[in-house]
Amino acid sequence: MNSKNHRENQNNSTHQQLICDISSQFVGKHISIVGWVNKLIKLKTVTFIVVCDNTGLLQIAIKNKTPNQNEITKNSIIQARGILQKSQSHDFDFELGVQSITVISKAITQSPLDMNSNISYLDTRLNSRALDIRNPKTAAIFKIRHNALISIRASLIQKGFIEITTPKIIGNAAEGGANLFSMKYFGNDAYLAQSPQLYKEQMMLGFNQIFEIATFYRAEKSHTLKHLSEFTSVDIECAFVNYSDIMDLIESIIKNLYEFILHNCKQEINIINTKIPNSYKRPFKRFTYSQIVEKLQNNDVGIKFGDDLLDSHLKLIGNLHPEFYFITDWPLKIKPFYISEKYENDHLSQSFDLQCGDIEISSGGTRIYDYQKLKNRMIDQNLNPSDFENYLNVFNWGMPPHAGCGIGLDRLMMVLTNSKNIRETVLYPRDPNRLFP
Ligand code: ATP
Repeated sequence: MNSKNHRENQNNSTHQQLICDISSQFVGKHISIVGWVNKLIKLKTVTFIVVCDNTGLLQIAIKNKTPNQNEITKNSIIQARGILQKSQSHDFDFELGVQSITVISKAITQSPLDMNSNISYLDTRLNSRALDIRNPKTAAIFKIRHNALISIRASLIQKGFIEITTPKIIGNAAEGGANLFSMKYFGNDAYLAQSPQLYKEQMMLGFNQIFEIATFYRAEKSHTLKHLSEFTSVDIECAFVNYSDIMDLIESIIKNLYEFILHNCKQEINIINTKIPNSYKRPFKRFTYSQIVEKLQNNDVGIKFGDDLLDSHLKLIGNLHPEFYFITDWPLKIKPFYISEKYENDHLSQSFDLQCGDIEISSGGTRIYDYQKLKNRMIDQNLNPSDFENYLNVFNWGMPPHAGCGIGLDRLMMVLTNSKNIRETVLYPRDPNRLFP
């Protein structure tokens, strides 16, 4: 039920209020609130309870002993009715002088989390994630994520993109295979998709611009702050454009996203106490891979053209550039088979990674659209073209030139919410050590 419906459905003689709506105009009036007990302070003559709903906090004061007082435990859901008055407390402008209180749902077990402390360990919080979302900081992160999805979808739809859904259960271990989760599918081998790459490209036959926002799976034993086994990706593919157009598109999506969050999530930004940096201001810098290698060499790093950039390299570059920036024109041989070469230098590719500091947010490029070229690239990379028959055939049916990218939503949320660990931005993260809850 949304807040408006919630308000409309309250048909009590006293007004049932969302806490965020309580203002001086209610002082002296009867009101009723529902919420959970955040803090319980029992003094000799009075009990103070801080009640939370998902819009805010209100202190209530119980002066007379109520028959059900022992039923009121931390985290229980209660309804309190009474008269709103000015509060003497430093933390609250108003408090509710309780006349009657009902325990709607008693919290029987003691909370494993201290909602009023920021020092609960992440593992403990993830083990009790449902309770953790009562922590305003956690709730703020997921409200920002919700708004981010609205903004990203709106940016793409407004430009005419069609949202698609590709299968997550796939029949062959394309794109490599080493890092796929395998499973049995009615007696056959099947895998969980690591990306929608091979499907979204096929859509270029009929749709000029598509996107998908979905979870994908990587069976990598990564124990880092930015890798999960299940992550959400915003995948984009466009016909008749190249990698430079896709970089422009990403910049505009991110600019819109920051502006949307700054406008719609003021309270959440305040709660997580993050500074939204100017790093989203366009244009994002574009360094070629070769320029990055040169920067590293100038900093005495032993790296040569053709080497992949390691975490330690990106740390160094990220310190120099904490903002969003692209690394373009990677060596062709370290890019996937479907990435096109640069026409003027076929050792280089029409590719990019978007970085924010040392975090890779997205990678993309211009795709090969010629059947024979694609097949040759597969052979060059020791892949068997017959494993890709369904995908390859489509390239003989009149494939337009196209380009695209995958944006890691969870990593983008790390940057947006200033979270050091990707697990903060995913409700129930999956990693090699975490399959529950
Ligand atoms: P990395 O080098 O960081 O492992 P990748 O090069 O394997 O990433 P891509 O396959 O290019 O990543 O995927 C596109 C984007 O999806 C990445 O830039 C990243 O934002 C996100 N992503 C990829 N793998 C993961 C993962 N295991 N967990 C979270 N996000 C991921």
